[in-house]
Amino acid sequence: MSRPTPQCPIRPGEPCTLCQAYVTGPEDCQTVKLVMEDEDLRAELAVKRRQHRERMRQAQGGP
Ligand code: SF4
Repeated sequence: MSRPTPQCPIRPGEPCTLCQAYVTGPEDCQTVKLVMEDEDLRAELAVKRRQHRERMRQAQGGP
């Protein structure tokens, strides 16, 4: 049985594509680590996640 594809924590709604060198997933992705360690980038990510949730809700016919 195969594992489900993990989601990229910094690209809301997208799977991890192993786009960084020597990465095995989000767990050891240095890009994710850098974003999570930076207050401004974390805030920007929160905005992107909210926008993604909003798009998903609209796509599903929500208010
Ligand atoms: S390697 Fe890192 S930045 Fe690239 S898709 Fe996976 S988690 Fe996201």
